[in-house]
Amino acid sequence: MTNLRALDSAYIANTYARFPVEIVSGRGSILTDSAGKEYIDLGSGIAVTSFGIADEAWLAAVTGQLTRVQHTSNLYYTEPCAVLAQMLCERTGMKKVFFGNSGAEANECAIKAARKYASEKKGPDAFTIVTLKNSFHGRTLTTLAATGQDHYHELYQPLTPGFAHVEAGDMAALEKLAAQTRIAAVMIECIQGEGGVVPLDREYARALADFAQARDILLIADEVQTGNGRTGALYAYMNYGIQPDIVTTAKGLGGGLPLGAALLGEKVKDIFQPGDHGSTFGGNPVCCAGAISVLSRIDDALLASVREKGDYAAHALAGAPGVEGVRGMGLMLGVRTKKPASAVISRCRENGVLCLSAKDCVRLLPALNIPMDVLQRAVQVIMRACAE
Ligand code: PLP
Repeated sequence: MTNLRALDSAYIANTYARFPVEIVSGRGSILTDSAGKEYIDLGSGIAVTSFGIADEAWLAAVTGQLTRVQHTSNLYYTEPCAVLAQMLCERTGMKKVFFGNSGAEANECAIKAARKYASEKKGPDAFTIVTLKNSFHGRTLTTLAATGQDHYHELYQPLTPGFAHVEAGDMAALEKLAAQTRIAAVMIECIQGEGGVVPLDREYARALADFAQARDILLIADEVQTGNGRTGALYAYMNYGIQPDIVTTAKGLGGGLPLGAALLGEKVKDIFQPGDHGSTFGGNPVCCAGAISVLSRIDDALLASVREKGDYAAHALAGAPGVEGVRGMGLMLGVRTKKPASAVISRCRENGVLCLSAKDCVRLLPALNIPMDVLQRAVQVIMRACAE
């Protein structure tokens, strides 16, 4: 570990504040470090390993594809990406899919699609994309511009122009902006993940969707973190009774391999022509084979179990000593603690449970199939850490 830390700090760009844990292996919701210590994983690589580590069905799908062809280019047809796109469209009612490698890339595609659509329908000055304050949409210069948190912007001026941010819940602010600016799209997270696990108000989400639809403003749902079963619905917008024009997702879709997707609805399904957009690795057959395995298992029974486990954890933690409140849906929970979240997370780590933070809260994003008894054990550890 000492050598690894020295090597890492000598050669890895200094963008991450790592915890002193070297993960060497895992199985399901258990991770093992280089000293042989086991941890219950309540982070899933930040909502990525949907069915845990080394899940057998996922491994079989991925290794099966790996032995056939690991990559070709988007100049040729491959089956996994077409089959996955069909599954995504059939499960959501969206019409076509663009595959990239990450959440930021999925959002870039959505922004490009919206700009092109609005420019064609309304003229070249209808380019503004509105997002919500406290949102997070990625780290590229354009998705940083979309991100509604000033501190992410400070180091990298000038960002891509043409973005505006309004307060979540404030319809008047959006109406005022629309009176002054020609808006191409509104992009929302139904639950702001990096922003502290903050769900959007249902009435507001519906009013916003109606407002956008009435003005032919595209509604983009960023489901990078909330998607693929995480909230107990296949996509979180389904909990809200709203219909986006574009859905972006990544993280849990690939189950541990890099894959992002922008799902294009009726209005924008044919917005791109060959050459308008692309990605070398987008739709990679190994990543898509893994995603087919993930998506095909997110059925009603699994979603019901996600809701049940989420309800258990939320209720157990909500009234516990040292806990101020719990936000979120399904297995995407933010626990507000009396002690600083960082202190609770450190204590949990010492006691064999890995949690995440988001703003002021302890964020829990366990694997969708975490066994109930493992979750119960982890919740006990968090409760002790909060109460001490
Ligand atoms: N959008 C949301 C809502 C996210 O939570 C994230 C990452 O945390 C992103 C976009 C960016 O995804 P990626 O890191 O895969 O580019």
